[in-house]
Amino acid sequence: MKILLHACCGPCSIEPVSGLLSAGHDITIFFSNSNIHPETEYNLRLRTLLAWAQSRAIPVVADVYDPAEWWERAGKVQKRCPGDPTHEQRCRVCYRMRLQHAAKYARDHGFDALSTTLAVSPYQFTEVIHQELVQAAQQANVTPLFIDCRPLYPDSVRDSKAFGMYRQKYCGCAYSKAEAEAQRKEIEAERTAKELQRAHSIPRAKELI
Ligand code: SF4
Repeated sequence: MKILLHACCGPCSIEPVSGLLSAGHDITIFFSNSNIHPETEYNLRLRTLLAWAQSRAIPVVADVYDPAEWWERAGKVQKRCPGDPTHEQRCRVCYRMRLQHAAKYARDHGFDALSTTLAVSPYQFTEVIHQELVQAAQQANVTPLFIDCRPLYPDSVRDSKAFGMYRQKYCGCAYSKAEAEAQRKEIEAERTAKELQRAHSIPRAKELI
């Protein structure tokens, strides 16, 4: 089959590409990720993917980078429900935007099926990705090819490190960047507190006498 593979980044592309090529499919990667903030990060992720794909002679098409569309669609959802601790609604709209772009490209360029690398990470809403992929593909009259690659996530971490690929520290949007930084600070503060607690629980020389 001639498959358009929507790719979120280089590291997440390794295992799906390998599996689809082994199954004898003809693959083109489609990089459509206007969610990524800031633009320097977008360029870094795209360059990482291009370098790896070129080394394997896999064609890559980069969609237009349009962060204003992301803010208009997914960013608005976040503003409407800022208290949503899971961010599921925001992420759903974000997946929808990227997969709709990919589905349109697949339809306009004669692809048989549409798949995505979004289902590699265990940190995403896999079932939501599945639903949005099916909906976007069906609306564009292409076959949805959903592959749950979460069991291969450890392999993608291992392989991307072995290839020396850049590995991002947050999902993509400005919100996820702030959330990841806050989480890192929290972990750091917990570690410092534990170290201080440990240091104070060591009996001093005087106390030992
Ligand atoms: S966390 Fe990731 S999937 Fe969710 S809205 Fe942000 S970039 Fe999109």
